[in-house]
Amino acid sequence: MTAVATDRLIRPHGGFLVERTGDRPQGVERLEQLTLTPRELSDLDMLASGGLSPLEGFMNQEDYERVLDEMRLANGLPWALPVCLAVDTAPGGDRVALADESGRPLAMLEVEEVFSYDKEREAERCFRTIDAEHPGVARLYAQHPLYLSGRVTVFERAEPRYPELAVDPVDTRRAFAERGWKRVVGFQTRNPIHRAHEYLTKGALETVDGLLVHPLIGETKSDDVPAEVRIDCYRVLLDGYYPRDRVVLAAFPAAMRYAGPREAIWHAICRKNYGCSHFIVGRDHAGVGSYYGTYDAQLIFDEFEPHELDIEPMFFEHAFWCTACGQMATPKTCPHADDDHVALSGTKVRELLAAGELPPVEFSRPEVAEVLVQAYRS
Ligand SMILES: [Zn+2]
Repeated sequence: MTAVATDRLIRPHGGFLVERTGDRPQGVERLEQLTLTPRELSDLDMLASGGLSPLEGFMNQEDYERVLDEMRLANGLPWALPVCLAVDTAPGGDRVALADESGRPLAMLEVEEVFSYDKEREAERCFRTIDAEHPGVARLYAQHPLYLSGRVTVFERAEPRYPELAVDPVDTRRAFAERGWKRVVGFQTRNPIHRAHEYLTKGALETVDGLLVHPLIGETKSDDVPAEVRIDCYRVLLDGYYPRDRVVLAAFPAAMRYAGPREAIWHAICRKNYGCSHFIVGRDHAGVGSYYGTYDAQLIFDEFEPHELDIEPMFFEHAFWCTACGQMATPKTCPHADDDHVALSGTKVRELLAAGELPPVEFSRPEVAEVLVQAYRS
């Protein structure tokens, strides 16, 4: 393999990619073993890949507290959400094995400290609510009562659900460099891409070199569209409507936290590690229900100094087809009234798809709608 200069790209968060992979340590099978939840496994895999650089493991109390209070690590670097491992009791030894749900050990953790935490306080700080109906808060409340911190070494990566889309930060960086890109915009999504998202990704792409479509494939709520269906949607959309040499499609292995504004910051920092210089933040990014204001996930970026995050957020409003403009537009660019706008609620779209009907082409590309109709049929 020939080396490709990736030094034109944005630097990872904290300056370097921190990839926590390594050889299987001697005697790991004799260590006390902890079984991780799907969310913790996603975090572990992102610690392995460098997606969570500069973290070397699960957070200690000093980092955790400062993240909650100030959205910073103990060293002052911006960081928006805890990356913690919840346990029942303190482990006996100074090393433990971390296993998946089948009991297969994947990593070793060097025990640093065990600390208690206040679930309601974490909920209030991170999710802006202590309501147990919030899916992220519900998961937090169901967790074990202590956090175990320490550096991890991942000696066996979890089997990727979509091997062809499992692309680590070092590989997206190489892919961008090979294409000669310097400025790359990342697009986070956990939904099929309709015309509105196509419009904003293309709007962003007009100003940079390349686009990383980076769907989240970790654990989501059960009523979100399943990842395999979404991936088919992305493929048909990208094949039909995007220039092949301007887009990279890869999976973002994180689990959804539904933390809205703070998760938008966290998503941006992770994408910086993947080599993105820009990041799209739409309306209600990483939100759920009506817990967050429509543009809260954009406003939170003002809590940091300009350029402190380095990655540049690109803010977009809600887009629609306007019959008077004869094109996609937003309230920022179209002066016409709602009557001229083709807008469908999520509920309406689901009704149409469930009835086997395609939404209007102004709302969704027919190829994408067809994938969704087929998914509803089966
Ligand atoms: Zn208009």
